Amino acid sequence: MSITPKFIIVAIDGGAASGKSSTARVLAQRFNLLHADTGSYYRALTAELLGRGVKTANAAAVRAELADLRLGTKVAGHDAHITINGTEVAEAAIRGAAVNAAVSHFAALPAMRSALLAYQRGLADEARGKKFAGLVMEGRDIGSVIFPKADLRFFLSADPLERARRRDRQGQPDAVAERDRLDSSREASPLICPAGAVAIDSTRLELAEVVKKMAGLIAAKLPGGI
Ligand code: C5P
Repeated sequence: MSITPKFIIVAIDGGAASGKSSTARVLAQRFNLLHADTGSYYRALTAELLGRGVKTANAAAVRAELADLRLGTKVAGHDAHITINGTEVAEAAIRGAAVNAAVSHFAALPAMRSALLAYQRGLADEARGKKFAGLVMEGRDIGSVIFPKADLRFFLSADPLERARRRDRQGQPDAVAERDRLDSSREASPLICPAGAVAIDSTRLELAEVVKKMAGLIAAKLPGGI
């Protein structure tokens, strides 16, 4: 009798520049998981809406434009990239100053969140279909709203000064503290550490140390460990 290997869902939440993407990328490689950076999805929709001249204050226009967008996925290596009406939005367009300044305002709108809810949950099927061993999804509300029953839920934090330094080193002008303030104080799916999540403060930890902590817990969930 063959045993179907367990498909594992790992949720990683945390503030801007808390180390989510770097750790998720390494874990995806190590455990053959599909990696979903949901911040890039909010960024892609924000870039699209900004390009269409939509203002966050006009909720009806946001809803109408979102209804016009067909979301899809392009898997490259372990990464699940979002496509909008068949086209992937360029990295440069989603990491620039205009999107950095606007994304948290758009992400606070319920219409934006519901536009991405089913899409994000659907990536588990995408990962199964493409024979990944699981899905690692990072964002702000993954363990609280998108996959509250994920096999593992992590919450990463780091000192705001250290996070600002990380973004500077990446050459990205980004108001990390302001985005966190907006993300934590919004009504729709705020950034919170969900009850039961494993909280890790990465301020004084190297990437390898954070990965090691997470990898140990993930391996323990897999049949026979790794
Ligand atoms: O992860 P990153 O910093 O690229 O995310 C950009 C923004 O997207 C966040 O500041 C937040 O406003 C929004 N976001 C969100 N929920 C998620 C992921 C990102 O609201 N799950």
